[in-house]
Amino acid sequence: MRALTLGENGTLVRTERPDPRLTEPDDVRIRVVQTGICGTDRGVLTGKFPARTGVVMGHEAVGRVDSAGPASRFTPGDRVVINPTLYCSACPQCAAARFQHCENKTGTEVGLDRDGSYADYIVLPDKFVHRLPDGMSWDRAVVVEPLACVLNNLDAASIVPGETVTVLGAGPIGLVTAMTALHLGSGVLLVETDPFRRELAAKLLHDLPARAPLTVTTPGAAGPAPRSRTVIDTVGSLLDTALRLVDTAGTVVIMGFDDRARVTVQPLDILRRGLRIVGAGDYNAPSFPRALALAEHLPLERVITHHIPLDEHQRALELIGVTGHGYQGAKVVIVSDDDH
Ligand SMILES: [Zn+2]
Ligand SMILES: [Zn+2]
Repeated sequence: MRALTLGENGTLVRTERPDPRLTEPDDVRIRVVQTGICGTDRGVLTGKFPARTGVVMGHEAVGRVDSAGPASRFTPGDRVVINPTLYCSACPQCAAARFQHCENKTGTEVGLDRDGSYADYIVLPDKFVHRLPDGMSWDRAVVVEPLACVLNNLDAASIVPGETVTVLGAGPIGLVTAMTALHLGSGVLLVETDPFRRELAAKLLHDLPARAPLTVTTPGAAGPAPRSRTVIDTVGSLLDTALRLVDTAGTVVIMGFDDRARVTVQPLDILRRGLRIVGAGDYNAPSFPRALALAEHLPLERVITHHIPLDEHQRALELIGVTGHGYQGAKVVIVSDDDH
């Protein structure tokens, strides 16, 4: 099969791999339709996040079941989305239902150290495969995994309807966070330095039905920004900005992944202002079916700006600013099989 693997020095290499085969009775083989490029992938390709050289990258995948073992619930042709956050079910964290903090993730992180979905096929255990609701488009479904991350982080923030949530970064995750918070009844202050992304965000989000206002702005626009009780850093390196923008007794949620980011904080300031700094991880497994249900009500497909055939992956790298001149899109999707 065709695959995009992680090469030396953060390159993405088009290679041929043997088709993966069913080995366990509950294995499911999926013919990949398309995979969203995640901020984490961008992080890997720019040296901000570690991954195993040679791995098939990609984890935000949808496709059709191609074959399934006798212990699987699926039959060939089923339309599915994958939950790429695998867990072992046996360690103390899994026993406590904190599946996202599973202690045995080494070798199981899809697209990072276990082969992912920038390919024609992927094989996964049955419990990490979810059937799509009838009529849900591939484009909406491919954003369900990011939505699960967003839900998990909004849960950690305990947002309150009617209050304003400050979201740092208007990348795909920032956009989905803003869309979801608006749907849940919060106002949103979306802060983004890049003028192209600000414009795109305003265009994509302005007409959503919302009970509280959306403002898209730049950091430091028109004097000190209003403080809000909840600040979500979808970039992962903006804790200092987040601490400046959060109100007394507020919560900062660190959501973006940046292995290199370091921030100096003043503990006394956190103590005096009664702040909480929360890391929620990507998402816990029960968030996934919740995200799938919520996706029926959110126009998630709007965050997709480009579909790029797998064989033209260099173009995708330009669009997400790994090569070329900065971001030229929001969610870019790698198409393995044009089933649209
Ligand atoms: Zn992702
Ligand atoms: Zn575990």
